[in-house]
Parts: sequence; structure tokens; C-alpha cells
Amino acid sequence: MKRLIILALILTALTGYTQERPYTKMETYFKGTNYELSVYRIYGRRDGNTMFILGGIQGDEPGGFLSADLYSDLHLEQGNLIVIPRANFKSVILYDRGPDGDMNRRFLDKPEAVEMDKVVSVVKKLMSESDVFLNLHDGWGFHNPVYIDNNRNPKKFGQSIITDADTYKCENGKVLDLNTPANKAMAEVNRKINDDRYSLHYFNTDTANPNTPFSDMRKTATYYALRKYCIPAYGIESSKNLPSNEMKVLHHNYAVNEFMKIYGIVPEVPAVIIEKPALDFAVINVNNEPVKVDKNGTLYVKSGDVCEIAHIESNYERGISADLIGYGTLNDLNSKFMLKRDAVIVVRKDSKKIGIINISVDKTKAEAKPEVKAESGYRFSIIHNGVSKMVSAGAVYDVAIGDKIELKVLLAGSDETPYKINLKGYVAPNVISNDGDDRNIEIDMNPKRFMTKYAEDDAKRMYPVVVGSGGSEIAKFWLRMK
Ligand SMILES: [Zn+2]
Repeated sequence: MKRLIILALILTALTGYTQERPYTKMETYFKGTNYELSVYRIYGRRDGNTMFILGGIQGDEPGGFLSADLYSDLHLEQGNLIVIPRANFKSVILYDRGPDGDMNRRFLDKPEAVEMDKVVSVVKKLMSESDVFLNLHDGWGFHNPVYIDNNRNPKKFGQSIITDADTYKCENGKVLDLNTPANKAMAEVNRKINDDRYSLHYFNTDTANPNTPFSDMRKTATYYALRKYCIPAYGIESSKNLPSNEMKVLHHNYAVNEFMKIYGIVPEVPAVIIEKPALDFAVINVNNEPVKVDKNGTLYVKSGDVCEIAHIESNYERGISADLIGYGTLNDLNSKFMLKRDAVIVVRKDSKKIGIINISVDKTKAEAKPEVKAESGYRFSIIHNGVSKMVSAGAVYDVAIGDKIELKVLLAGSDETPYKINLKGYVAPNVISNDGDDRNIEIDMNPKRFMTKYAEDDAKRMYPVVVGSGGSEIAKFWLRMK
């Protein structure tokens, strides 16, 4: 808590402005790398303790990281949360405990040595701003203080609340009681679990004891938080052997909620959302073809085109209306209108106007070829009369009548994309349905095989090859028969 206040004072000094509680701040570190790290800081309506929830330090433990993920969206009445849903993003993507080694054995008193240590450094710094630390895991089997069988015994980690000591004496002499809060939380969780097979057990790994069988725990995040920052730290373990991920997440949530109660962090339920409503874009179907139009943008149509406002993208899902002025009702979402003159769509969240979309009846602009730049980096891989060729997006590719073309794949740089490639106007022989995908078929470059309304030249010999549709075309070139 005190560190947050200091931070707030520094921010005020630097910017002359502090954001008003409650609010959430999200920061992303190491963007675009295997170790991309998203950190959520949730500030409650009233200040209080700061709890740090860490998930995904080992990527094959979805109960933990999917639970942490849910807390990223929480709003708080009191106290603060720091949430990292996926500490080891590379391991989460690969569903692997640690493709570059175990991140939860990197909390050492050493400088960064391997790539993932940069994440560990951020986590350590966030611990210094916290009052309590929770590390969410899915362990094997079912922890039990006495040996029952191979799957239920004192060496198993699943379904437990882990401490490094019952009480821990910090360097400054302060004594932390970990046993009492852990057992209090656990008792409440077990009342909800209501199935003895899946009850949580208390697990003290006695980490500092020279004779502990769990000396490896000295390299973990919880032990680091305890010895370096003298904050209570707990490992919460669901079991990898529970019947479903849903149950793993639920048990984690039960435990996190109890620890929040114990440390005075109170969720706001339901959350009062005060975010300013904003329009991003609209999707308008023009003669059943979707076109994306940005806020305050203009959609060009031909007189007589049938338009339908199919979707409004904004930061709110409910309370959104779109009024095509002069047509229909106040709410024209998902109704169809034939347009013969210019029009305006007003988009509202409740009564608040959040943006407009202009519709302009302009035949020339409606039919204009969208500009696709050759330097977009997209290239089409094709086979022309049995020979592999590359065609840059934006190019016109000449063939002779009777030539055979096969469309293979759209390349973004050197990467293959999975997108369908559509040769507009081409009617393949023996084709029953047209799914808009003309990849990997032998195309007969014969003008008779084309519907001339798709031609983009006067001679009706040039047809577009397109990936994407309407206003969201991502790449295009033209095949021209000579
Ligand atoms: Zn784990």
C-alpha cells in the first residue's frame, strides 16, 4: 500500500495529474516476443492492501492461469490487485512446463542470465509493490499429510495450499503467520468443494529447514517474496488430475476469493463501468457483401444497392443502436434498406451519440478498385502452365487464352497464410457450390469460363484475384488474358 501511495505522489509530481479511483491500468512488456508479459493493476474505489496474483508461470497449468485471467477484469470496492495471468507466455503457448527451463526456479539472488529472467525481474519488482502474493498452480496428484497411495501422499502437490513455513521470521525481525490465514482460507474452500476426494490440504514445505525434502522451493517466487520483501506468500495448487479444467479454475477462484477476504480486498459486484463509450467501426452489408467502415468514415454505394448495418464495434455490447436517418426506426441494426440518395447513420450508446457513418451514393467511387499496394509485402504463389511463379499484390499478371493457372497460397513475407483465394467471376466446370475458394484447382484461362460482370477492364479479359472481401480486402492481383 505505501509503495502505491509513493508511486501516486511521483506520478502527480511528474504529470500534475492522478487518475481517479477506481481504475485499471494494463501494461505490456516485451511485446511481440515469446516472453510477452501483460500486467494488470486494478485500483479499488478505496485504497487498501495490494494483492499480487501470478498465473501461468508454468504453461501446462491452465487451472491457475485461466483463474488469474478472470481476475484481470475485476473491479474493486477496496484494495488493489496486481494480476499477471500468464507469466511464462512461451510455456503457455506451447502447453509446456518450461521450454527453456522452469521459471519458478529462477527466483535467485543472481543477475539475469537467460531470456526468461527479464520476466522474473519484472515479477520481483511487482512483489516489492505488494502486500501479499499468490502463485497459482496445477500440481500432480492429491497432497495428503499421510501416505494413502501413490497418488495421495505427502509428496504430491495437487489440491493444496502451500507455505514455506508456518511462521516466517523476516530479516527485520517481523514474524509472518502463514499457517492461520492458509488454514482459514482452506476451511472455507473445502466447505464449497463438498467432495472429500478433492478437498484441499495444507502443505508446509519447510523451505528454510536444511533437512527439508523440498529444498528446490528455495528458488521459487513465493519464497523470494517472503525472504526479500517480507510479504505473506502462498502457492495455491489445484490438481492436474481433476476431471475438468472448469473444476480446476473454480477451485482456484474459491481460494483466491478467500484470501482476498482475509486481506481486505473487496470486489465491486456488479462493477460500475464508467468507461467513455466509443465507436470503433461498423460492418455494413452492401448487397450481402460485408464492408468495414471506420468511425466517421464514408461508405460509397451505387443507387439501388441494398444496405444492412450488420454490426457495430464499440467498447460496449449493450445499449448500442444505429439509426439510418430518414429510414426505418430509431434502431435500424439488422434491417435492410435500398439506398438511392446520400444518408447518415448515427450510432448511439444509450442516448449518447458516439459516432456517425456517412453513406454516399457515388457510382464511380463505389466501383473503384481498392488500392492495393505492391509494397504491402503480400505475394501470391501460383503455378502457370506447370511452372511456379510469384506475383506481388497489386500487380497485373498476363496469360494467354487457354493457359492453365493454379492458385496456391498467399504469402506474407515468407510466411504462408491460411486464407482462401478467390478468382472473381470464374466458374469452374462441374462445381456445385461456390465457396469463394479457388486454391489448388486447375483454372482454365478461357474468357467463356468467366462472368463478365466481374471483369475490371472494357475488353472483359481482366479479373481480380482477391483475399478478403468488401472493404477488408487484404491482398489482390489481376489475371489478364491476352
Ligand atoms: Zn506449478
